[in-house]
Amino acid sequence: MTEGEEVVVVTRNTPTTYYVEGDRASGFEYELIRAFAREYNMRISIKVAFSLPELLDILASGEAHLAAAGLSQSASRDARFVASNPYLYQQPLVVYKSGALRPRSLDALAGRDIVVLAGSVHVETLSALQQDLPELAWREIHATDSLELMQLVTDEKADLAIVDSIEFSIQQQLLPRVVAAMEIGDSTPNVWYLTQDEHSEASLGLVNQFIARATEQGQIAQLKQEHFGRWEHASRVGSLIFQRKMRDDLPKWQPMLEQVAEEYQMDWRLLAAMAYQESNWNPNARSHTGVRGMMMLTRATASELGVEDRTDPLQSLRGGARFFKTLLRRLPSDIEEPDRTFLALAAYNIGMGHLEDARIMTQRAGGDPHLWPDVRAHLPKLQNPNHFPMTKFGFAEGEQAVTYVDNIRHYEGLLSFQNLPEHRISPPIQVDALFPAYLWQAPLPVL
Ligand code: GLU
Repeated sequence: MTEGEEVVVVTRNTPTTYYVEGDRASGFEYELIRAFAREYNMRISIKVAFSLPELLDILASGEAHLAAAGLSQSASRDARFVASNPYLYQQPLVVYKSGALRPRSLDALAGRDIVVLAGSVHVETLSALQQDLPELAWREIHATDSLELMQLVTDEKADLAIVDSIEFSIQQQLLPRVVAAMEIGDSTPNVWYLTQDEHSEASLGLVNQFIARATEQGQIAQLKQEHFGRWEHASRVGSLIFQRKMRDDLPKWQPMLEQVAEEYQMDWRLLAAMAYQESNWNPNARSHTGVRGMMMLTRATASELGVEDRTDPLQSLRGGARFFKTLLRRLPSDIEEPDRTFLALAAYNIGMGHLEDARIMTQRAGGDPHLWPDVRAHLPKLQNPNHFPMTKFGFAEGEQAVTYVDNIRHYEGLLSFQNLPEHRISPPIQVDALFPAYLWQAPLPVL
């Protein structure tokens, strides 16, 4: 691995590592790798492994320079590969189905049907435990991630599973009946593993330098918040209801959502998530503020968009999609995706004028008004009396706009994860590390 050249990365297709959201690649590990590649001006080539043993084989054979896949550090892995410094810690957990018998001690694991990911560090933990607890037994499942283990627990095809804490909290959004019973073993560092060869030392130097800087400058904390923190806003109950609606109501609306999304060239999952956030897919929804229909348009916006009947779902979806695309276009041209989409969503909720106010406040406070995480942090000030009197458009419900965008991303994520099996069989894709234009941003006009 050399500065200015290609870095080949092997990863897993999971909600906490790397996945495809609509037509863009995303995920915590993917974003971290992108930042690393940007730092050293490298191009990225991603290889996707379908199980941990396969992933480690790819790395051992030298087909990849490094593995970035939510890998826990272990002695046996350290013997085969070169470990980076840690960038994240996860606590292994024993999980079970709510309502079933909850194990409260290690002894209580004996005699239960336990599943773990084949090749995972949890196999090593259980093997060590078995020394003192010979009746302990488990099944190793050849899968990409612990979601499949949690599915087995949900379907009552296994009693217990062992999974890492962050994976668990994300995947619990999809399978909310699976709950934590207890911790098992110590919290373990996640590391990138590098191939062992004559270049390892130099490569490790680059990697550790990057991790140290990204930790110090808060980049890693920000990615954690972005990828793992946003789930806080949508409650477990909300997810459960969404899942039920996805099963019961979505099939009825999906063809129309796909049709309108295609007409306006947007991802149908984003449109579906917006419509769910607006009205829970209810074409007759209305609120006391006078907004109505599937996309909750005001009378004024509807007539501007040529919507005659706000309760007609097709008209409402078309109106909402057109309005959203207009906002996307009106944003300054040097805002890159995915920030562009998130900022347009905020503008959909709060209005372009208030969003501009928040972007100006962001810039004045030393943040980057082209980046959603920065603007997100300043939006709530629009309702703070110490701040909003200084803005052009005044008071606005900034906190609500943040929740609005977070919820839509959450629902869009849930819709995308449903499609993961499709991506699992997709061939490895080549990804160029394209650098966002905000590096050359022009300053915002001061109003
Ligand atoms: N972090 C685990 C490992 O490196 C895999 C993920 C899991 O089992 O939850 O083995």
